[in-house]
Amino acid sequence: MAHVLIIEDEEDILAFVHYNFIRNGYQADLATNGEDGLAMARELKPDLILLDLMLPGLDGLEICRHLKDDRATRSIPVIMLTAKGEEEDVIAGLELGADDYVTKPFSPQILLARAKTVLRRLKSEEKKGKDAPIEIGDLFIHPGRKEVRVGDDIINLTYTEFEVLSLLARRPGWVFTRSQIVDAVRGEDYAVTERSVDVQIVGLRKKLGHCGAFIETVRGVGYRFRDEE
Ligand code: CA
Repeated sequence: MAHVLIIEDEEDILAFVHYNFIRNGYQADLATNGEDGLAMARELKPDLILLDLMLPGLDGLEICRHLKDDRATRSIPVIMLTAKGEEEDVIAGLELGADDYVTKPFSPQILLARAKTVLRRLKSEEKKGKDAPIEIGDLFIHPGRKEVRVGDDIINLTYTEFEVLSLLARRPGWVFTRSQIVDAVRGEDYAVTERSVDVQIVGLRKKLGHCGAFIETVRGVGYRFRDEE
C-alpha cells in the first residue's frame, strides 16, 4: 500500500483529496501548514508528497527545496497542487526537482492518475538503466548507439536534437522546463539557450514525422513527451 503525505491548508481540498486517496487504497497522512508538512515528510518518508504551493509560513517551494536538498528525502516524488496563474512557481518547483503538478480545481481521477504514473515511473526507472532502448509507437531510440528510427527509417539527428529527444522520451509524461533541458543537454555542436530549445523542438518534430506529435508543448512551462498509458 503506497503511503502519501498531503500538505494543504485549504480544509475542503485536504478533506476531498484525503477521502479519494483512502478510498483508492492509499495510506494517507495530512498536514495543514508547511512546518508540520516538512517535519512529517522527514519523519514518515512517504512514497509520495502532494504539496500545495501557497501555504502559510513555510511555502510549498521552500518545502520542495528543503526536501530536495536532503539526501534522506530527495528521492520522494512530489506532485505540486497549484492555482491558475502560478506558472512561474510551477517552473521554479520543477527546477527544484518536483515531479509533476496539478492545477486547481482538479478532479480526483486526474490527481489519482498522476499519482499512479509518478509511482509507476519511479519503479520502472529503478529497474531500467539509463541506456536502455526506448520504444514508443513507431519511434525507437537507442541511447547507447545514438540511434533513432521511425518505423524502418533511420533518422539523422544532430547531437543536441538527440540529447533533447532522449531526455524527454526517457520520462514520458514528465514536464521539463526549458532551462532544465538546457542544463541537461549542453550542446557540443550548438550553444543551447532557452530560446534555442524551441528551435530544436521544431526541428525535431519535423524530422520525426508523425512521431513528432509525441513531443507536446506545455504552455507557459516547457515540454513533455506524451505518456501513452
Ligand atoms: Ca493553499
